[in-house]
Amino acid sequence: MSLLQSVVRQFLMVALICCTLNVQAAHETLTISNSKAWKPYSYLDDDGKPSGILIDLWKSYGQANDVEVVFKLVDWQTSIDLVRDRQVDIHAGLLRSTEREEFLEFAIELLQIDNQLYFHQELVSFNVNDFLLGSHSYDVGVVRGGYEESHLRKNFPNVSLKAFKNNEDMINAALRGDILVFSADLQVANYYLYSEGVNQDFIAVKRLYTGTLYAASERSNSQLLSQVSERFHNISSEEKQRVFSKWMHIRTVYPQYLLPLALSLFCLLIGGYAVLLRYNVRKKTGELAAINKDLKFLSETDALTGLSNRRRFFQCLELFRNRQSTLTVVIIDIDNFKLVNDQYGHINGDMVIRSVVNTVKATISDGQVFARIGGEEFAICYCDSNIEQSTRHAQHLCRLVREIMLPDIDYTPITISVGCAVYQQAKDCKTLADADKLMYQAKNNGKNQVVSGQILPLDHVNTEAS
Ligand code: GH3
Ligand code: MG
Ligand code: MG
Repeated sequence: MSLLQSVVRQFLMVALICCTLNVQAAHETLTISNSKAWKPYSYLDDDGKPSGILIDLWKSYGQANDVEVVFKLVDWQTSIDLVRDRQVDIHAGLLRSTEREEFLEFAIELLQIDNQLYFHQELVSFNVNDFLLGSHSYDVGVVRGGYEESHLRKNFPNVSLKAFKNNEDMINAALRGDILVFSADLQVANYYLYSEGVNQDFIAVKRLYTGTLYAASERSNSQLLSQVSERFHNISSEEKQRVFSKWMHIRTVYPQYLLPLALSLFCLLIGGYAVLLRYNVRKKTGELAAINKDLKFLSETDALTGLSNRRRFFQCLELFRNRQSTLTVVIIDIDNFKLVNDQYGHINGDMVIRSVVNTVKATISDGQVFARIGGEEFAICYCDSNIEQSTRHAQHLCRLVREIMLPDIDYTPITISVGCAVYQQAKDCKTLADADKLMYQAKNNGKNQVVSGQILPLDHVNTEAS
């Protein structure tokens, strides 16, 4: 019985120890240090909480391994000192160097960084390689205990360095104008120079080095480091990707002027396009207007003589009909024109038509419309003349045409028959029928003459041969 009791007691003790160990394992903590001002890798945010890419990576480590991760974010040099003095377990991420390897053990490739030398605009004409030889009085800003400090001391020993507690202090000093040159990681400098406000005073002029950030422990603590290194694999690649892409998207720092600049460019492009469009529309409208004008001219003009054609004549007649005045309508037909064509051919016939037109045209005043309404038939219309004035004008035309001399043909005289209808009220003129009738009377009377007629409001036509 007592044997059984002692076995049960021992079993219970073993179980208790196991439970205790399990509870301890569940509360295992890992203390980690890094800079409090190394944006976007590791920094204290506005609420004083640890933040940054490295911080998120180590938080993921804690979750994947059920380990409580405690961060101690301090100045850069202190962050290394804490690891060296074993006041913290692990450094969250730093570059490897022979000096550091004397007291630190490195493991786990965390990130790539790219360190640049930044010049103030004032110094851009300075040759960078000459500058690094050190024969000048400018100090180069570095973070105390940072890798860039030892890199510059080792590779460019004549350059005078000015050390700052952290990147924030260093870049603020640069922005105040205390230093004109500094060395910083590209992403870090971008963050500080562009996220707080536009600053184009500093330009990256030379890449000093690229390197990998590793986790590190104090040398004698290497067992812990290799355990952490092994457990680091428990972070899934999706989780790592999530952390990186989160910071890529959130912390990729663009100059603040980029958005307004892009918007301005966009507006400029749209504006330019609108102006161009307006210009093209105006140009095309102008071209169309010119084409329409040409088409209108062609549709209203006789090709042989350049006179208004029948269509245009009737448009004008319609306008005249609305006037409160007399209206004279004259029809002219060249006599025996078929003979001209038959004897001298169509080309000479055309020439005769043009000479008659030029002769008549010379007598046409402003306000009178003269048109070619058929082959060798023409019409004139105008307002405000009585029958005497109109008849005189028509007879004058007959005389002038008779006097036409054409050197190429001996067909003279060229004569015309004219019908001249004078309406006492312009609105009574409905068609050319009255003037036509009078013209045919002139033909019947023996051609080469004018027959005028007054068209009274009661449609009474008085004719008189002249
Ligand atoms: P009438 O004295 O009775 O008017 O006799 P006419 O010979 O002039 O007879 P009609 O008016 O019937 O003949 C007109 C001729 O004009 C017929 C046609 O061949 C000719 N003609 C019409 N248009 C043109 C043209 O543009 N050019 C030329 N050369 N001839 C034309
Ligand atoms: Mg005719
Ligand atoms: Mg004729």
